[in-house]
This record gives sequence, structure tokens and C-alpha cells, in this order.
Amino acid sequence: MAAFDFAAWPPHFSTEQLDELHLKATTYALAHGLLYLPVAPRPPLPTSAIHAPLSLVPSPFPRHLFAFAQKIQSIYNVLYSKIAMDTEFLDNVMGAEQGVGKVDNFTGQLWSGWKKLRDENALAQPLQLGLFRSDYLLHHSEGSDYALRQVEFNTISSSFGTLSERAAQIHRHLLASTSYFEASPIFRADNFPSNNTTSGLAEGLALAHKAYGVPEACILFVVQPGERNVFDQRWLEYDLLEKSNIKVIRQTFDELADSAVVEPSSSVLKVNNVEISTVYFRAGYTPTDYPTSAQYDTRFLLERSRAIKCPSYPLQLAGGKKVQQVLAQEGVLERFIDSAAAQELRASWMEMWGLDEEDGTRKAAERHMQLVLKPQREGGGNNVYKEAIPPFLETLDAQEKAAWIAMALIVPPEGIQGHLVKAEVEGNVKTEVVSELGIFGYSLFGAGEVKAEKEIGWLVRTKGKDSNEGGVASGFSVLDSIVLV
Ligand code: ADP
Ligand code: MG
Ligand code: MG
Repeated sequence: MAAFDFAAWPPHFSTEQLDELHLKATTYALAHGLLYLPVAPRPPLPTSAIHAPLSLVPSPFPRHLFAFAQKIQSIYNVLYSKIAMDTEFLDNVMGAEQGVGKVDNFTGQLWSGWKKLRDENALAQPLQLGLFRSDYLLHHSEGSDYALRQVEFNTISSSFGTLSERAAQIHRHLLASTSYFEASPIFRADNFPSNNTTSGLAEGLALAHKAYGVPEACILFVVQPGERNVFDQRWLEYDLLEKSNIKVIRQTFDELADSAVVEPSSSVLKVNNVEISTVYFRAGYTPTDYPTSAQYDTRFLLERSRAIKCPSYPLQLAGGKKVQQVLAQEGVLERFIDSAAAQELRASWMEMWGLDEEDGTRKAAERHMQLVLKPQREGGGNNVYKEAIPPFLETLDAQEKAAWIAMALIVPPEGIQGHLVKAEVEGNVKTEVVSELGIFGYSLFGAGEVKAEKEIGWLVRTKGKDSNEGGVASGFSVLDSIVLV
């Protein structure tokens, strides 16, 4: 079969057809909970919602690369579980004595909390839960077909699982309800992979709850104040209640400062007097979630309880960009997984190095047009690209360099056009796009072993090519799905 012509994508739609796809997509989104809260919800209770940003047409993705990404998720689930259980490795790479935590205050704060628990012998819960998302772009390298390349691996607050399931439903609905998708022979139901991410994520949380062993306990979602992406979280809450009869309590760090206690003798975490089995962090991944030391104190309180954390301090640290870069050094991956598995993962990695390495900064300056620099941050908007790199390097002192990694830029297919819609923008926008695939997985692990792990679903975010970053929440990109080619 001839290679798929990405530059000819998508097939032509008339203005009338696009208008109808737009109407059908956004109506379906509003009817099925593919929603955000509006920018200024009327306090104290929401009275309206807007549809999440969407792509009207799914993105083409090679079938074998999608299958490969799904297949290697289990290796990643095990790998990151093992990293989180490897104290020596994390101390070296992320610690505040010899690792990144020495120069990056945020990393240092998290690591110090963990170290304090260890020093006080106060780690009350051996089990940990990971709800992971491994992100990929298609990469074009000279003389070969497109390949899969990993962008990053997320171990905290991996979002848009439940909304991406609904984005896939929209595209299936458009396929079934209009004849417009007859414009391309690849628009067939069997090229639209199923997406059941909601139940997969909820299954992970329910497994942790069950392992905790107190059926009437609740799961705590730690959330950001003023969160607009609440529906993505609520869908998990509804699934947990309906399928597993588990109740969820939602609280911010500031609310928990008053409501949470850890009972001294049992280390049981109670929120407003209700026992908590599992703490699921949808906040706490960025320094702005900790405006004062009080939020770090609350995080510490939760961590020292018997509740199972998703993620724990060490699992959050394991998701650092520095860890990703160190794993790419020769022989490091083999510390955690066998060499056959290591080979499969390496095949999808870009070149990475630390700016503090010998020659690391000079190499970054020299090759800046093919590079992105990343700090130890999550949530989008933190990276430095291409021509911005040389002046940025001038501002870093020798110490600060240790907190940054350099990564070769992935070169995605060129010329793909997308039709994007946003509630705040009139009409649909045709623009050149890049699509990022995320594969979700869970792992319940502790005391040296992985108890259960699974690949559980996927998401696609599509962004305008002129924007370097892809965070849906930060407004640069839209939710999408794939059509397999
Ligand atoms: P974050 O944890 O903030 O999401 P990422 O590593 O995912 O950080 O980087 C944010 C975005 O930057 C990605 O979604 C992608 O669009 C872009 N990006 C990151 N690394 C690369 C890369 N190596 N090549 C091309 N684009 C990249
Ligand atoms: Mg991330
Ligand atoms: Mg990312």
C-alpha cells in the first residue's frame, strides 16, 4: 500500500458541510458532557457550560504505530512503577542533596517532603497508584516513513481521558449521521478505534480503593480552585459511583487545610470525618498550586496518611523531564526492565541531554533550531524553542542548567489541515495542525512489586502548527480523535 499522503488531508468539505458538521459536533458535545465551565462562572454554583475546543475531522494515524503505542504502554506502566520504588535512583536524579531538587525549588520541596517521611519512618502506605499518560507525535526522519516518537510521560494529573472518549464519540456520530465523510474511503467505522478511557481510569481508582480495604471509605479528588475542566473529573466520579459504589469528595488544598486530619495512631486520613481510601491529585503538579508553605504542608499531611496516593511524592518525581532524559542514557533503562523491553521503548525516543553535562550547553546553542529545552514543569507553556534558545541560555547560571534538559525536536507530518472549533471563537477555523497522541495506563504497585497494570485508552490533542505548545487547558489546542490509516 502506498504511504498515506498527510499533506492531502483532510478531504474537501464545502462551507455548508463544515457548518453542519460544526452544528452537529457542538450540539453533540453539549448533549454528552464534552464541556468546560465558562471563563467566568456565576458564583457560587455553575449555571452554564461551554463545549470544549474540538476538531471537526479526526486526524489520520498509522494503524501499526497506534497498536505499537498501545502495546508498549504496559512496559511503561511497569517501568515508572519501578522508578517510583527506586529510592536511590530518585535521590540521585531528583533529590535536593545531589539531584535536580538542589537547583529547582519545586522539585526540591516535593523531594524534601518525601525525605522527611522516610526519616520519620512515617510512610504508612506501601501501595501507590499511577494513572499515566504517555504522549507521542509522528516523526519524519530522512528517508523513512513516519515513526512514533515519545514527547513525555505524565505521572500526575493526566487529564482529558474522559473528554477524549467523548471526542471520539462525536466523530463516530458525524460518520453515522451525515454522508459528508464519504469524501474519503478511510472514513469507515472500523478505522475509528474504540475509546473507553473513562472506565479504565475509574477501574484503576477502584482497584486502589479495594486494596485499601475499607468499602465505605471515599476517594478524595484534590482539585484546583476555579478549575474549569471539572467535567473531565466529574465523569470519573460518576463512573466510580455507578459501577463501583464509591463516593468521591472534591477539595482544594486550602479546603483540606481545615477539613483533613490524619489520626496519629492509625494514620487514617479523614476529610470532614470521612475516611479516605485513595487521594487522586488533579492539583499539585505546578508551583502555582502551592502559593504559600501551607499548601506544601497540606500535601505533606495527605502523603503521611495511610490513604493510597495517586501519585505519591516519588511517583510524581518519577515523571520529571530529568528522569526521562536520564533514562535515555546508555544502560540506565536496563536497571528497571529487560533489554528486549528496553529496546522497544528506545526505538521511540528522541535524543536528549542535560544542559549541565560537559558540552551540553554548547551543543544546545549550536543545534538550537532542532531543539526544545524543558524545565521540571507540567501543564504546558514552560518550554523554550529554537531561536529563543541562545538568548535563553545566556540567562542561565551554571547551577540552573541542572534543572533543564535539551530534547531534539520531533518533526511531525507537514501540510495537514484541521477544522477547529472553540466556543469563544466564531465559526470554524481551518489551519495547519499537529496531532499528539496520548496513551493512558494504570499501575497499582508497592513493596517492590506491580500488583496490577493495564493499558486503558487514548486521547488526541490537535494544535495549530504555529503554536509550539499543546495544552488544551492553556487554550492552544483542541480535543480530537484518530482515523487509522
Ligand atoms: P508538559 O509536561 O508541559 O505538557 P511537554 O514535554 O509535553 O510538557 O511539552 C509541551 C508541548 O511541547 C508538547 O505537547 C508538544 O506540543 C511540544 N513538544 C515537547 N517536546 C517536543 C519535541 N521533542 N518535539 C516537538 N514538540 C515537542
Ligand atoms: Mg506533562
Ligand atoms: Mg505534555
